[in-house]
Amino acid sequence: MSQISLKDVSKIYKGNSKAVDSVNLGIENKEFMVLVGPSGCGKSTTLRMIAGLEEISEGRIWIGDREVNNVPAKDRDIAMVFQNYALYPHMTVAENMSFGLRLRKYPKDEIKKRVAEATQILGIKNLIDRRPKELSGGERQRVALGRAIVRKPVAFLFDEPLSNLDAKRRVQMRTEIHKLRMRLQTTFIYVTHDQTEALTLGDRICVMNQGKIQQCADPMTIYDKPANKFVASFIGTPPINLMDGRIIKKERKYYFEEGKFQVKIVEDMHKILAPYEGKEVTFGIRAEDIYDKLFVSESTPDNTIRAACEVVEPLGSEVYLYLNSGKNQFIARVGAHNRPEVNRDMDIVFDMSKVHFFDKDTEKTII
Ligand code: ADP
Repeated sequence: MSQISLKDVSKIYKGNSKAVDSVNLGIENKEFMVLVGPSGCGKSTTLRMIAGLEEISEGRIWIGDREVNNVPAKDRDIAMVFQNYALYPHMTVAENMSFGLRLRKYPKDEIKKRVAEATQILGIKNLIDRRPKELSGGERQRVALGRAIVRKPVAFLFDEPLSNLDAKRRVQMRTEIHKLRMRLQTTFIYVTHDQTEALTLGDRICVMNQGKIQQCADPMTIYDKPANKFVASFIGTPPINLMDGRIIKKERKYYFEEGKFQVKIVEDMHKILAPYEGKEVTFGIRAEDIYDKLFVSESTPDNTIRAACEVVEPLGSEVYLYLNSGKNQFIARVGAHNRPEVNRDMDIVFDMSKVHFFDKDTEKTII
């Protein structure tokens, strides 16, 4: 049994439709689980139901082998780390961190040991006698975290902890969270709307949309084998290129066609796509699977199209090309040295072994 389990969990706020809709999820011991999705998809509500801060409308939640539906937040043995951490201004760092344990009447030696361990983990040993006003924002955040660590909870829940930080600091803090996780060896559930944060931090990522889990898997599976069009387009920067068109068969070969745009489908995919012959599908290709023909050794007319390069966007280590082939636009992500001339037609090559196809009606992945 998972350490934290959600079975058919839903949340219906008064007067609203389902904010969380029949969620089934198991989080393993010491796992780093990320809940990711666009704003309003139900991530925070899910987290808050696990923490006990929000009532569960339907379904059941277990922590260990205990059903916690009716267990108050303070008795769930879980630490929720908020963006806004309230420290007691008149207490020192050590007193702030030990406050909860003192309330629960832990022995003095145990409290001392736990505070020492936590300050060591967080690298704030030298600050224990300071008061909050003598600390930087980052240090205060650590103390707030320390307060949670000393309780030795079964899981840490984080709700968008980095959303107030600027881009550079976010990247720094990502590494910090990584390190913290390695040191603490505890279960983490982490909510973010940022797909890069999800990909870099999660052992598994649970992608949500409109209250429902779309896919829950390790980051590479989510990226390489998205379950549906939503997951494919939500995960990845720049977003995957998508195009509606038709599967056609000519002389025993299959093609994807949309107006004048036509590319040959690799043989490995024939069997799975055969039932879609003549039907409309959505074609998807990631930006890194599109190349400038001048920079590839293998290309055939079947996987090459003409397109105008409308914008060249250098990003330092790589370049985004904004391409236009009549009705269709694509973004390609190419090497830093690859700088085609703007507003000139060029040949672009599709790596057809990497493309995705989605069912036009259900939006589920075909291949
Ligand atoms: P996310 O964390 O993914 O941004 P939330 O879980 O906060 O999403 O919200 C999910 C949905 O529930 C949204 O449509 C939101 O407007 C609604 N919602 C959240 N909290 C409340 C509330 N206290 N009362 C009514 N509706 C709410």
